[in-house]
Formats: sequence, C-alpha cells, structure tokens
Amino acid sequence: MAQFKRKSIFQNTTRESVMARPRIPISQKIFDKVLKIPESGCWIWLGTVTNHGYGTMTFGRNKNISAHRASYELRHGPIPDGMLALHHCDIKCCVNPDHIFLGTQQANMDDKVCKNRQANGVKHGMSKLTEQQAKEAKFGNEKPIELAKRFNCSATIIRQIRNGLYWKHLENKA
Ligand SMILES: [Zn+2]
Repeated sequence: MAQFKRKSIFQNTTRESVMARPRIPISQKIFDKVLKIPESGCWIWLGTVTNHGYGTMTFGRNKNISAHRASYELRHGPIPDGMLALHHCDIKCCVNPDHIFLGTQQANMDDKVCKNRQANGVKHGMSKLTEQQAKEAKFGNEKPIELAKRFNCSATIIRQIRNGLYWKHLENKA
C-alpha cells in the first residue's frame, strides 16, 4: 500500500464526463500525438504545447492535463503529491515515460543549473541568434513578430526567449 498520499491526475474526472465522451483510451490519445525520434528516443508531443513548453491535452470534459505527467502515470502509476515530473532529456515536450523521472523542486533547480551549463546560449542546439540578438529578444520592447523579421527567425523563438525558455542565463546588461 502507498505510504503517502497519492493523487492521480486522472482521478478528478466525474462519471458524467467520462460517459459523455467516446471511450478512447488515454494511452491511445497520447500515442496518436507523438513523433518518435529514433536517435534520442524522445517522443515529441505534437498536440498543444503551453507557453512554458510542456505538452498538454484534454481529458474528460474541459480538463487540461499535462501530457508528460499523464504518460508517466500510465507507465509508472500516480505521481505523489508535491513531486514534479522532470525530464532526463531536457526536452519539455517529450512524453516518453522512460525519459521522465520524479523529483522535488530542489532537484529540479539543481538539474536546471547543471543543464544550463551545458546548453548556454550559442551552444544551444535551438539557438541561431547571437547573444546580442537574444538580449534584444529577451529584454527589448519590440514586438516578437518585428524582431523575428529583423533576425530572420520565427516569432515563436522570440516569444520563448522572452518567456525564459531559452537563453535563461542572460542578464539585463548592455
Ligand atoms: Zn525525451
């Protein structure tokens, strides 16, 4: 038996909401929406992604759940209260349950510090911008779409930098 309180993200669904929908197994809903990358083993979520970069899906009626947490729970069981589902691969929209591990907020911070060291700025695989451009993206007032035109990149990247997803280490200095 569980030693501590476990609350599955699937639990709060009412009987009514389950009945109201066709019965597509949640596992099927996940597997239908991933692109599997053979090289890394990542399952890239092709559904909706939050501003923070995590996959999200609807479950039951009007309930949004986190796709990587759902995937983890399907494989390993409920995530205990207060625990975060973290990524070994550092790809937030990856939903491969084997790439996800549980940790506390502190573990999450330690993990980020460690990974930031490896993925700083220009060495980051997603980065095509110079550090100066990234600073403008992160701290400037120009609209993402305008910056994107000027830097010849996608406005999404600009928004993600502004939201702190990439180039996290930049500080607001000239
Ligand atoms: Zn992965």
